[in-house]
Order: sequence, then structure tokens, then C-alpha cells
Amino acid sequence: IDLEHLGVHRSVSTVFPPEELIETLEDLPVTVSLVEDEDHNDTDCEAIVTFEHREWFADLEWVHSVQAGVDRFPMDVFEREGVVLTNSTGIHDRTVGETVAGYLLAFSRRLHRHVANQQRREWTQPDWDEAFTLPGTTACVVGTGTLGQGVAEVAGSLGVSVRGVRRTPEDVPGFDDIYTTDALLEAVSGVDFVVSTLPLTDETRGLLDAAVFEAMDEDAYVVNVGRGPVVDEAALIDALEANKVAGAALDVFETEPLSSDSPLWAMDEVIVTPHSAAFTVDYYRDIAGLVRENVRRLEAGEAFTNRVV
Ligand code: NDP
Repeated sequence: IDLEHLGVHRSVSTVFPPEELIETLEDLPVTVSLVEDEDHNDTDCEAIVTFEHREWFADLEWVHSVQAGVDRFPMDVFEREGVVLTNSTGIHDRTVGETVAGYLLAFSRRLHRHVANQQRREWTQPDWDEAFTLPGTTACVVGTGTLGQGVAEVAGSLGVSVRGVRRTPEDVPGFDDIYTTDALLEAVSGVDFVVSTLPLTDETRGLLDAAVFEAMDEDAYVVNVGRGPVVDEAALIDALEANKVAGAALDVFETEPLSSDSPLWAMDEVIVTPHSAAFTVDYYRDIAGLVRENVRRLEAGEAFTNRVV
């Protein structure tokens, strides 16, 4: 790749102002500028940093996704057209870890109910046996990559024992135990929280299904911060309605934005957040670090980091 012009696509505005990234990358030895959809025919950039996919990216040489999940990019097309795709895994450990710790604390200290009551100016104390503390509880984190390790670190620091589920049995830092995916039902039984941090792949689609909710304890909570379709949403709603699980905190959904008629919005023990578990004022700085490193590698003739295609 002969990189002279790196574009920053307007769609990154979902997570940060493009101008912040462009200014931070000012000292790179290439031109960095904003690219709008309407004037893409006039741009001469060979590479782009983007949140969303556009068909015309197939004519570029390098696409960098500011998300870790690249399930919405047409990898077969990129492969065929020789487009390099890099992603942003490796940066969302602390943000997502703290968000998940927030869900766990909300459930244990009943904060979500207090906030809901406050909207109605209602003074209602919880029942004597509703609130609990986190030390002594166990979380099963499915997916032990960047997100999973961030969850293990932050939840672990709050006294939660953390077991992990991954495809191979090797230990991962921060996890007390590792289970392989074929032992998922065993891994989710007897824990207080089941947390999915999985990417969406052919193998993970619908992995958290009715059988998983059946295997979970009735007082356990489901958390999904990976990708929506990894959880069978209809089966989760059934399990919540039948009290087979205690509640859920969901950042990602089968269809986003979540439809206003979804029953999930109105359930007392469900926390809905709008795919924002990784949001942080420092997002553009983390992306700048990844892009800077790959531009350096390109100039030095080294292989890209975070390369997916
Ligand atoms: P990583 O690549 O670091 O981690 C993914 C992990 O998933 C790997 O460690 C892999 O472990 C595991 N995995 C993959 N397939 C399976 C399987 N079938 N069974 C069990 N484990 C599996 O990615 P990140 O942690 O950075 O991100 C994970 C996903 O989270 C992203 O793909 C994205 O979709 C989502 N995400 C959501 C965000 C949000 O805002 N809510 C923010 C950032 C990411 P192993 O190889 O050991 O099996």
C-alpha cells in the first residue's frame, strides 16, 4: 500500500468528532482529512478510518474499523478486492469492564430500581432480602478477549470470582477458571452473572439460548455487551417472563436501535443501554494510537496489527 492520503469517514461521529482524530493525527507523514459520503468520488484517499461500511470502500486499499466488531463489513468482498481490514480490538477493556461492573452494582445494590422510582417521585425501599454485595458472587464471562479480560479485571477487583469460557482451555490472566465452549451449560450453572463479550460469528450466533437460560440459576442475571444476535432474544424474553433468570443488562440487541415496542424496555429487572458500553471521551485517542501504529508499520514494511482481512 502506497499511503499518501488517509480519510476519516463522517460516520465516526457516532463515537467521537472526526476533527478530534484528524487533529491528533496531524503529525503523521500522510494527509489526514474528513471524507463525506457525497464527495467520495472526488477524494483520492487510499485508506479510511470508519464506523460504518460503504460500498465504495471496496475500491480502497485499507479500511480501519473504529469498532472491535467487524461483522457488518463484507469480508468476502474485501478479500476478493484485496482490501486490508483492521479493527479496534484491544482498547475496550476498561470502558466495557467498568460498564459491566456498573450493571452488577446496579443489580446488587438495586440502583436501577431506585432510578426508576425517582422518575415517579416514589419513595420505595427494597424488600429486606433484595440487596446483596458482590464479594462471594461468581460471574461466568463468555469470551475471554479484550472485553472479557476487562470485565474480569474490574469485576474481580470488586470481589467477584470470575470464570471464563473460550474455545481452548488455556488459562487467561484475571480468570479463576476456564471452561471450553462445549462445556457452556456447566459453566453457566451455579453462577450469579453470565456475561457475554463474544463477537458475532457463525458459531456464536444464538449461542446463549433457551438451554443456557434453563441451566442458569433462577436468581442469576444475563449481561450482553458483545453482539446482540449472540443471545436468542425471544428465548431471553421468555426466560425473563417465566422467572427462569432474575434479570438482564443489555447493551446490544438483535435489531438496533431496539424497537420501541420491545417488552425489554418495560421490565423492572432489565437494564437497556444503547450500544454505548465502550463510550469514553478518550475514544478518539485510543483509535489514534491504533492508526498511528499501523501507519508506522506500513512505512517500516512490517505487518499490520489488528488485521482481520
Ligand atoms: P477479542 O477478539 O479480543 O475477543 C473475542 C474473544 O471471543 C476471543 O478471546 C475468543 O477467544 C472468543 N471467542 C470467539 N469465538 C468463540 C466461541 N465460539 N466460544 C467461546 N469464545 C469464543 O475481541 P474484543 O474482546 O475486543 O471484542 C469482542 C466483541 O465485542 C467484538 O467482536 C464486538 O462485537 C463486541 N464489542 C462490543 C462493544 C460495545 O460497545 N458493546 C465494544 C467493543 C466490542 P478464543 O480465541 O480463546 O476462543
